[in-house]
Amino acid sequence: TGSLYIVATPIGNLADITLRALEVLKSVDLIAAEDTRNTGRLLSHYEIGTRCVAVHDHNEQQKIAWLEQQLLDGKNIALVSDAGTPLINDPGYHLVSAFRAKGYSVVPIPGACAAITALSVAGLATDRFLYEGFLPAKTKARQERLNELRQEPRTVVFYESPHRILDSLVDIVTCLGAERELVLARELTKTFETIQSLPAQQLLDWVKADPNQQKGEMVLMVAGYQKAQQQLPVEALDTLKLLQVELP
Ligand code: SAM
Repeated sequence: TGSLYIVATPIGNLADITLRALEVLKSVDLIAAEDTRNTGRLLSHYEIGTRCVAVHDHNEQQKIAWLEQQLLDGKNIALVSDAGTPLINDPGYHLVSAFRAKGYSVVPIPGACAAITALSVAGLATDRFLYEGFLPAKTKARQERLNELRQEPRTVVFYESPHRILDSLVDIVTCLGAERELVLARELTKTFETIQSLPAQQLLDWVKADPNQQKGEMVLMVAGYQKAQQQLPVEALDTLKLLQVELP
């Protein structure tokens, strides 16, 4: 029986692929790709001639039986998505859970992931973080989601799309406050890579003022909620404590 390799590919810069990923893509019998034309560009760049089949959101469940037969025939399969790590906002969940449940060997070949890449340079807390994928497309649902996250103490990571970034920022200002610290990481590993840290309202103004900042691929990170600092000076707090003891 063959193995299913889950192979991370670059998120922009084609050089961001591991030696092991290239070896696996070269040696497997079959590559299951989200978009065969897109993966074809990566493969031809590295002169890899492995056969590609399309496995995307709309046919993943139907393809599982066929891919299982390939494994049973002793074929090794690599799963790749258009960019980064499969299953992270990309197809593969049904395939991996089905194959693991059946006891087949599912092997990770790690590499780029936009969320982790963005966190690595954001300068926000990374000891704990929450990955939220894309915010809902409709304003009401988006505001509901943001309101749920208002007191979230961990750094929150969102994937964003160019046509929604302004609406999302407006809702973030409304729901999380104008002062909440944000980091926008755009076009990571590509020519126009930009990483900007600003309070929510200022980031909104900055993105609004420059249409270039509304283009391309982006990760938006939100600093975790921090309880308001004690407003009173330490001496006043000490006096209050004394009074609490003394007063009836
Ligand atoms: N599987 C991918 C990963 O591991 O990050 C994510 C795929 S998801 C369909 C595509 C989204 O990832 C984009 O809309 C954007 O939010 C984010 N993304 C992908 N590449 C990026 C890049 N080079 N810079 C910033 N964000 C990126």
